[in-house]
Amino acid sequence: MILYPHFDVGENGHLTIGGLDAVELAKEFGTPAYIIDEDVIRENCRTYLKAAKVCFGPDALPLYASKALSFTGIYRIVAEEGLGIDCVSGGELYTAKNADFPAERIYFHGNNKTDADLCQALDMGVGTIVVDGREELEALNALAGERGARQKILLRITPGIDPHTHRAIMTGNVDSKFGSAIVTGQALEITRAALTMPHLSLAGFHCHIGSQIFDIEPFRDAAGIMLHFIADVKAATGFEAKELNLGGGLGVRYIEEDRTVDYAKAVAEIAEIVRKGAAEAGVAMPRVILEPGRSLVAAAGATLYTVGSVKEIPGFRRYVSVDGGMPDNPRYALYQSQYTALIANKAAEPKDHRVTVAGRCCESGDLIGENMPLQSPERGDILAVLCTGAYNYSMASNYNRIPRPPVVLLHKGKARIAVRRETYADLVDLDVK
Ligand SMILES: *Cc1c(COP(=O)(O)O)cnc(C)c1O
Repeated sequence: MILYPHFDVGENGHLTIGGLDAVELAKEFGTPAYIIDEDVIRENCRTYLKAAKVCFGPDALPLYASKALSFTGIYRIVAEEGLGIDCVSGGELYTAKNADFPAERIYFHGNNKTDADLCQALDMGVGTIVVDGREELEALNALAGERGARQKILLRITPGIDPHTHRAIMTGNVDSKFGSAIVTGQALEITRAALTMPHLSLAGFHCHIGSQIFDIEPFRDAAGIMLHFIADVKAATGFEAKELNLGGGLGVRYIEEDRTVDYAKAVAEIAEIVRKGAAEAGVAMPRVILEPGRSLVAAAGATLYTVGSVKEIPGFRRYVSVDGGMPDNPRYALYQSQYTALIANKAAEPKDHRVTVAGRCCESGDLIGENMPLQSPERGDILAVLCTGAYNYSMASNYNRIPRPPVVLLHKGKARIAVRRETYADLVDLDVK
């Protein structure tokens, strides 16, 4: 096992993903390729759904934050597993619709939804729209009115927590492009406004404090602040929120040094925190919604590349260049995100080299990682980067006119293409001659 049970080493010394030989997968589908173990995603969905039902009752609905990995097939999988989803754009809504995802189980987010986005959501019958600000509130009320509809909404609130420096800077992200802050009074103000809107039905509040969070403490702080806000709103307006959406953000183990998060336990802890917090604040226990993205899909994925040049700069470092890079995984370039890499055809050999894995873009920052432990690399090796299921394909670009890799799903020991490889013809398809 390498990090997770679905990554292992076969008898021939090759990396296996979901029991399939990664070198064979590279041969069959070419490189670079995203390999996603669908069974792992299904298992993660079940873990969240089961925990949510145990902790919050039979109508609990965890949402998959689909910006983490978005293509038609993933919405089918999540629909089958019985979760709801978050969408953050017209494109995600369109893709969910393409998969016949049940619209009432969609929550629509975004800090600047256009009128066209709002119309699309209303016309699709999206269950819940998470309203970000005053202009959107008014626009949505008018557009729902034109349709003779009454749209269920939540209001996005910024509780003022920075999950990584929390307590030190409790109001860290009051300065955010998202939502309305409690401390400035704007959250109460927009709540009052929402309650006067005839075509909107306010169900409660939403907050999302960040991502790659390994501790439960930031959620404790967020829940406490949100429940006190619910109590304040009740005292000021008589409205008692029925729904509290605490967002996503639970962390994922990408490298050996990262901690493992027990997601079922985290859900149980959050449930307990909200139950106690509601009692303390003197409000009814709301329906609690969680929106995991990364933690449902990241570990399920691996990207397979072919090694090209191996360049040693004496006294400096060794560059291992692969046939992909920042266009398929921009996360090192963006946030110095850490990943585990290995040579799939030498997976049983010791990782006795330290390398910089580089892509093939004309850009020095086009790196997958630095100082990465790796087996001895040679041209033609298959290099695997693990845990690339989240925010890789969904963030991919065509920078340098590089076609996007395919997405290959593994299910019950079989591999199938879920998104085909882009071709050069695809690249010029939108160009007007
Ligand atoms: C991105 C996002 C999530 C998911 O975050 P993860 O870190 O992937 O779990 C959930 N809710 C909202 C509103 C988001 O923007």
